[in-house]
Amino acid sequence: MGRSSRKWVLVQLALLSVFFGIAQAAPPAASVVEEKSSYDLAGHVEMLSDPTGLLTVRDAAGRKDWSGPIREPVPNLGFTRAAVWLRFSLANGAAAPRNLYLSFEYPVADSVTLYRAEPQGVFRELHAGDSVPASPDLVPDRHFLFPLTVGPGETAAVYLRVQSTAGMTIPLRLLSDRGLVRKAIRDYTLYGILFGFLVLVLIYFVAVNSCLAGGTCLWFALYSLFYGLHTLVRGGFMRLVMPDALAGVNNLLNLLIIGGLFFTGAKFFRLFLGLKNHARPFDLIMVLFQYLSIPFVLAALFPNPVMPALSLLLLVVNPLVSISLAFYLWRRGVANAGYFACGWIVAHLVSVYDFFRINGALPYTPFGEWPIPFSLLVALLFFSAALMRRNATELLMARIDPLTDLANRRKFDESLEGEWNRCLRQRTPLSLIMADVDHFKAYNDAFGHKAGDQRLRRIADAIRRHTRRAGDLAVRYGGEEFVLLLPNLDAASAFSLAEAIRVSLEQSEQREDQRPGERLTVSFGVATAVPTEGEKPEQLVTDADRAMYEAKRAGRNRTVASACGA
Ligand code: GH3
Ligand code: MG
Ligand code: MG
Repeated sequence: MGRSSRKWVLVQLALLSVFFGIAQAAPPAASVVEEKSSYDLAGHVEMLSDPTGLLTVRDAAGRKDWSGPIREPVPNLGFTRAAVWLRFSLANGAAAPRNLYLSFEYPVADSVTLYRAEPQGVFRELHAGDSVPASPDLVPDRHFLFPLTVGPGETAAVYLRVQSTAGMTIPLRLLSDRGLVRKAIRDYTLYGILFGFLVLVLIYFVAVNSCLAGGTCLWFALYSLFYGLHTLVRGGFMRLVMPDALAGVNNLLNLLIIGGLFFTGAKFFRLFLGLKNHARPFDLIMVLFQYLSIPFVLAALFPNPVMPALSLLLLVVNPLVSISLAFYLWRRGVANAGYFACGWIVAHLVSVYDFFRINGALPYTPFGEWPIPFSLLVALLFFSAALMRRNATELLMARIDPLTDLANRRKFDESLEGEWNRCLRQRTPLSLIMADVDHFKAYNDAFGHKAGDQRLRRIADAIRRHTRRAGDLAVRYGGEEFVLLLPNLDAASAFSLAEAIRVSLEQSEQREDQRPGERLTVSFGVATAVPTEGEKPEQLVTDADRAMYEAKRAGRNRTVASACGA
């Protein structure tokens, strides 16, 4: 045998050994004969770990240490730097080709490569992953979708290599054309509703922020924005819209989003529950967690030994502490803390669950990705309810005088024009009573400011008792001045009402042993008008005020009706 023929035999033997190497280790086959929309690969996939990350598909195929078929629906190895190989084969015993798609449903995996064995030991390769540009043949989807057509009578061997700095979670599904369409309809309907709602929440709370103090609405909007971005990343939408050129910075972007989520969340928590004013030590704890998100992002940029401790502190301890705190403040009766605590527990228990799931400590079920979008929806509902109730209370409180619980000057100013116009349309009279406590400064000086406050409260109670008609408005107009706005009340009735209040106040505080200056008397001015076009409602206030000063001049403790008007 010549040199060349010996060489030829050697090459033949080598090729044969490669062929037998692959053939002997043929992956366990899943039958794809029936027309189903989704095929279960559990029990058909084998796994091989490559700690060096250097194995080629040929090396991997030739290895003898593949695991047996894995029963778990979603293999999860936690955080590992190793590359993980998976293999299975698809047997199509039917006479027609079958169009299938392998769906790898963990969108933050860095790189996922599919190898399909072809004749003569050749492998066709498809790349995907959130840190590498995807092959053009991939089906565009929020998950990594590899097309796999299996010819009639063919058994296709498939190898998959996964490597990631995110957790090594491997949720695989095999879909038919119909399954693919169903998945798209389900995904985009559910996420469409969710993000539509998120956008509404963002617009609403950014818009109302300017009318409310403290910036809580704006911080909530920011927190919702980061929550939404996190859900977009975890749902695979971010990668879908990001240009390939940015694939390299995807992991950094995800980290920044997580950092932003915890930073804005803690700030919103502190603002909504008013920790700074009501619970200073708790505020300091939350400040700590808020600013911890900065070293968390920085530490994650450079691999270092403190990273696991930082992650545990921010992603597990922080949620557990803040959940306890929210429920404690709810029990202590902080306004609207109940709704807040419900939203908080949903959002943060899911983040703790997610942390343990990605670490491999909890099983990553096929439904494992849904708690995140679901928690966003529920948290948005609870937080929006909490904030809207808070805002409604604030708007109400902004029109109430805190000392007497009567309406305040702002409410009066808003109501005057409305009532004036109503009486103008209905051609009915509008009356206004102005009341000013007599010698109140002297009373304060003699008995103290606190006693003065109590007296103002008693006067307010008396006024309230006398204004029971629908539409009447009792107002604390200034320090010791009160106003009654009385639609549909004529001058005579308004005068009688003022007198009734005056007499009742005068009698209420009369005692035998009264000290000098302790007597309570109030002077009243009454004005009435049947509004006409061109007149201004402020004139009514001026008239009543003038009448009231007339009463003061005439010796106080009396009612004077304005000479002007009706
Ligand atoms: P007059 O009979 O002329 O109305 O005399 P007066 O002392 O009531 O009038 P003046 O306007 O000089 O003083 C009003 C006083 O009302 C001054 C202030 O100390 C007191 N006052 C205003 N607001 C409050 C309040 O909220 N609480 C208390 N305790 N006193 C108030
Ligand atoms: Mg006064
Ligand atoms: Mg006075």
